[in-house]
Amino acid sequence: MNRRSKLGQIALAVLLVLGLMLTVVACGNSEQSNNEGNEAEKPVVYKVGTEPTFAPFEYKDIETDEITGFDIDLIKAIAEVSGFEVEIQGMGFDALIPALQGGTIDIVASGMTIDEERSKQVDFTAPYVNSGLALAVAVNNEEINSVEDLQGKTVAVQIGTTGAKKANALKDEGIVKKVLTYDTIDVLMAELTKGTADAVINDLPVTQEFINKGHHEIKIVGEPLDSEQYGFAVAKGKTELLEKLNSGLQTVMENGTYAELLEKYNLPENAWPK
Ligand code: GLN
Repeated sequence: MNRRSKLGQIALAVLLVLGLMLTVVACGNSEQSNNEGNEAEKPVVYKVGTEPTFAPFEYKDIETDEITGFDIDLIKAIAEVSGFEVEIQGMGFDALIPALQGGTIDIVASGMTIDEERSKQVDFTAPYVNSGLALAVAVNNEEINSVEDLQGKTVAVQIGTTGAKKANALKDEGIVKKVLTYDTIDVLMAELTKGTADAVINDLPVTQEFINKGHHEIKIVGEPLDSEQYGFAVAKGKTELLEKLNSGLQTVMENGTYAELLEKYNLPENAWPK
């Protein structure tokens, strides 16, 4: 090989390497701009926290192992009309407000009652369900028919709930003797049949659904103890998100979706806060 053709080969190699480098840079660039383009189009994903033992509002579908229920379908319908996406996360009921405040989740959809104390910590949407507390006892219990009959009795409740608050207030008044606190509804209800607790104070539609699902070993007694309304909650000051939720809620209440969900989950017409 003469010197000239050797030089030519080197020049060719240099050109090839340069060309390759340029291609890499160009591809890199175009990939980058594509990514940016996608990101701009990607809808926002909000993390939704829920305590999933609260059927029909939120519970695990045993077939799919996914969290479903009235609240979940409703927040998904709101997300669809408002142009965002949701990711559902299960956690303890007492962990929901701290998770909102700490920013691990963006929205609480968990049959959460709008009350004064919570409204100081988080912001609520307009009410999306009318509910209230009910007293439940074992089916063969003839002794307890109302709150007055709870004198000296043991009451089981779910942690951090309005039911827990009510039971503790009755204890402070010297009526209820002992309050047993549990994390999940299934465990709580089992205490009635075990005889560990004399009564349960829990949201009426949830206790009703538990009975409807075949748990005829318990019954609801007396009148509802109060009336409550559920709202979706966001961290204080998240006004943009709150507005999206409120306007989306209004849309799904007007476009027929809300009525369909009431029917799907067998909730009474008066659950609708019109
Ligand atoms: N509605 C009740 C409350 O807000 C119970 C909610 C629940 O247990 N998921 O305290």
